[in-house]
Order: sequence, then structure tokens, then C-alpha cells
Amino acid sequence: MQVEGKVIICDTIDDAGVTILKKAGLIVEYKPDIESDELLMSVKDCDVIIVRSRTKITKKVIDSASIVKIIARVGVGLDNIDTNYAESKGIKILNASEAAMNAVSELVIGHMIALSRNIPKANDGIKNGKWLKKELVGGELRGKYLGIVGVGNIGRNVGRIAKCLRMNLLGYDIYPINQDYVREVGLIKTDLRTLLENSDFVTFHVPLTEKTRHLINSETLSYMKPTAFLINTSRGEIIDEESLFRTLSSKGIAGAALDVFEVEPPTNTNLIQLPNIICSPHIAAQTKEAQELASTVIAEKVIQTLLSNR
Ligand code: NAD
Repeated sequence: MQVEGKVIICDTIDDAGVTILKKAGLIVEYKPDIESDELLMSVKDCDVIIVRSRTKITKKVIDSASIVKIIARVGVGLDNIDTNYAESKGIKILNASEAAMNAVSELVIGHMIALSRNIPKANDGIKNGKWLKKELVGGELRGKYLGIVGVGNIGRNVGRIAKCLRMNLLGYDIYPINQDYVREVGLIKTDLRTLLENSDFVTFHVPLTEKTRHLINSETLSYMKPTAFLINTSRGEIIDEESLFRTLSSKGIAGAALDVFEVEPPTNTNLIQLPNIICSPHIAAQTKEAQELASTVIAEKVIQTLLSNR
């Protein structure tokens, strides 16, 4: 099916989606490093703007894109797009909501095992000529309680994998959690405080909103067990990093793994240098499979939406 229009791609995306868009007859401008002034000029004659997380689609960009019909995010979180303003102007917002689900879930499990088995310390020790066998007695995931905050696509998938590892699941969400899922994995629904008080691992899968910004702060961290681990692959701003620093420094919790930070790359060196924290550079969705899937899904959704608008 052929479709007319001009698409600008403002961040690096997998080739698969670019090929699909071109094959459908669309003019594609691929500008993965585009910066603000050029962006304002380039979007003027575009029907579609495609971004990942680097490019911010502000009111100013939307006003400049006078004929734009679709803004698409090759990924999940929409916090880099002023969605309210775009939708008020009749612009359709698209995302690839399930494309990153498996990639993120596998990184969460990887971080949980890395935390509980001290893999980074073991690796550093060996590379520095130290045989830390006696010091590095770890814990197992089996039988432990995993608290899932935000039981959406990713949270549910993490729960399914954790169930296979014979963990027990607690879940908190502001919306009702699907009953079939609850039965499938034996999840216990709780409020946030009960989840934090009873979990051995807590993983966050909520979007960044006014309600989730600093959801984890000195008060909520104080509910967690001193033996518990926290894993955040959602958005950095849901954790108050100063409070996390104080809690980790005083051994209020056992450890944390962060893939996302309040400022990226992180500038909070006190926090990231602590011995009981593991960091990764926002790579939860950075797998070949997830990137290809997200790019393909978005290309197909863009074409479908343009066709249905004709
Ligand atoms: P989703 O929309 O399927 O699930 C989010 C869940 O959070 C929903 O069930 C929603 O009801 C719940 N929720 C919303 N506000 C809440 C609140 N205040 N308290 C408790 N629950 C709340 O989204 P998803 O696909 O599971 O992704 C979750 C988040 O993960 C995304 O918003 C994105 O920010 C992040 N993410 C990060 C990466 C990465 O590379 N690190 C990749 C993909 C997604």
C-alpha cells in the first residue's frame, strides 16, 4: 500500500523501520543528531516526526511543525513529548508500547542476580588480583518476595520470569490489576507501603508523571527492609537520588541497581560511586531485537494511521 508524506526521524532508530517507511512511498529525512535550531526549521514541512528519547518535542517544536499529523516515539515513555499540547492540536501520538517489554525485563532480572550474587564486585576483584571467595557470599532469588510497582506490560513480564525463578510476587498499581494475570502468577495485590515493607527486591515500572516523580523518597525508602534491593529501569525522576544516597550510605537498604537517572548521564557522583549500587547507562531497551521491533512497529503504525486519515 502506497502513502504520501514526509517523515523526519530525529534520533537513531533501527534500519528496519526506515526501510518500511521508504517502501511505502514516504519521503524520509534521517537526522539522528539533529539539534534545536535545525529541528525547528526541519519539522516545518513534515507530516510525521519520529523520535526516541533524546529529542524533546516541546510546544515550540509543535508550533513550528504546522502540518504535522503524527508524533511517534520508537519506545514506550512519552515524557519527552508535550503530549497534551500535541493532542490539543489534533496530532496523533504513537508509541511502541510492547516492543521493549522483554529487553527491559531481562535487564531487571540480570540486575537482581548481579546485586544478590555480587557479580560486579567479583569481577572487579578478579581483575584487580583479589580472590574474594569468602567475602562474596550471596543470596538466592528463589523463595524471595519481589515487589512490582506498576503492573503494566513490563511489570507483568518481569513477574512471569520471576515466577519461573520461584519468587513470590507482590504488586502495586493505581489501576486494577488484571485478575487472570493475578491468578496466573499468584501475585498478591498490596498498597505501596505494604509492598515496600515486605519485599526483598522492589522493581519500578511506572511512567513518569506528577504522581510518580520522587515516589521513592526518604519516607518511602524508610519502609524498606535493610536487606532489600531496589531496581529502577523506569525513569530516573521517580527516585529522589539524594534520599537514595543517604539510605544506601547508612545501609538502610542493602543495594540498588539503576538504569535511569535524574540527570543523564548522571552527575550525582556520590551516589554512583557507592559500593552497594550497580549502574547501567539507560540500556534496558538496548537490544538488537527490541530496537528492530520498536522501529518496525512504529513504521507500520505510522503508515496505518496515514492511510486511515486519507
Ligand atoms: P505500561 O503503561 O504498560 O505500565 C505502566 C503501569 O504503571 C500501568 O499499569 C499504570 O497503571 C501504572 N501506574 C501509572 N501510574 C502509577 C502510579 N502513580 N502508581 C502505581 N502504578 C502506576 O508501561 P510499560 O511498558 O510497562 O513501561 C513502564 C515504564 O518503563 C515506561 O513508562 C517507561 O518510562 C519505562 N521504560 C524504560 C525503558 C528503559 O530503557 N530503561 C524502556 C522501556 C520503558
